[in-house]
Amino acid sequence: MSVLALAGGVGGAKLANGLAAILPPETLTVAVNTGDDFEHMGLPISPDIDSVTYALAGMNNVELGWGVAGESWAFMDAMARLHGETWFRLGDRDLATHILRRQLLRQGNLSAATDDIRRRLGIAQKIVPMSDDPVRSIVSTDQGDLAFQDYFVRYQCTPRFLSIRFEGAEQARPSVGLLAAFDDPGLEAIIFCPSNPLLSIAPILAIPGVRERIASRRLPCVALSPFIARQAVKGPAAKIMAELGIAATAAAVAAHYGDLIDGLVIDSADENPIADEGATLFATDILMRDSADQQRLAREVLDFARRLT
Ligand code: GDP
Ligand code: CA
Repeated sequence: MSVLALAGGVGGAKLANGLAAILPPETLTVAVNTGDDFEHMGLPISPDIDSVTYALAGMNNVELGWGVAGESWAFMDAMARLHGETWFRLGDRDLATHILRRQLLRQGNLSAATDDIRRRLGIAQKIVPMSDDPVRSIVSTDQGDLAFQDYFVRYQCTPRFLSIRFEGAEQARPSVGLLAAFDDPGLEAIIFCPSNPLLSIAPILAIPGVRERIASRRLPCVALSPFIARQAVKGPAAKIMAELGIAATAAAVAAHYGDLIDGLVIDSADENPIADEGATLFATDILMRDSADQQRLAREVLDFARRLT
C-alpha cells in the first residue's frame, strides 16, 4: 500500500518527515508545490522542494525553519561587501544545492534534478515536484502584483493580500511522478499536509487534472489544519485569512477544501467550536514540536484515514 502526501515547505516537511519515519520508504511519495520557485542570481531556487528534501535527509535547520542545519553565511557576507542582492538569504551549504540543481537542469527536468539530489542525500522516499512546467504564484496586494518571493521574503508579507494566481498553471501538466502516485493501484490514502492552503496546496490543486484525480478517488483523502486556536503555527496564513475576511479556523480549512477531502485533522483545542463541515473530523495534538510529534501525528493521520476507508 502507498501514500501520497501533498506538501508545501515547512508544514509539509514536518508531516512528510513523520510519514517517512513510519512507512516503508518505497511507499511514500511527497508531491511538492513549485509555485514559490524562482530564479535568483542565475540560480534555480525551489524553496518547498528543498524544505522537504532537507527534512527527509535530517539536515534541515530547525531554528530558522528553512535551509540547512549548521549553516554558515560567508557567501552572503561577501555578497553584502560587493553590494550585491542580499534580501533573499542563501547560506553556504544551501548554495551547493542550488548550484548542483543549475547543473542538473542543463541535462534534465526538475523531476530528474529533484530525484537526483534526494538520492545523493540518501533519501529513499520519492519527492516529486507538482509539475515540470513553470508555475509562478503571483500575489495581488494593495501595493500591486508581487512575485511570490517578493511578497513573502522581500516585503515579509506586509502588503495586504487580495488574491493569488498561479501563472502557467493552466498549461501545466502534473509531473510524471505525481501521476504515477495517483495511478498506483496500491494507493491507500492522499494526505494534504498542514501546509498553507492558499499559498502551498492551492497551486498543486490548480494543475489541470489534479483536482479531478482527487475528486474521482476511491480512497480516503485527509487534510490537516495549519491552525491552532485561530493562529497559524508559523507564517502568514492567519494574517492572509484575516485580510480576506475569513477566520483562521479548522472550519474555514474544511470549507476551503470542501468535497476534495473526506477527513480533517484538527487540534484538540479547536474541537468544540467547529461545526460539521462535511468532512469527518479527528481532533488531536497537531503541533509538531519535534520528530516524536511528527511520527505520532503521522501515525494518527494514517489510522484516521484507514478508518475512513
Ligand atoms: P512554507 O511553504 O514553508 O510556507 O510552508 P507550508 O505551506 O508547507 O507550511 C506553512 C504552514 O504550516 C503554516 O500555515 C503553519 O501554520 C503550518 N504549520 C507549521 N508547523 C506546523 C505544525 O507543527 N502543526 C500544524 N498543524 N501546522 C503547522
Ligand atoms: Ca513555500
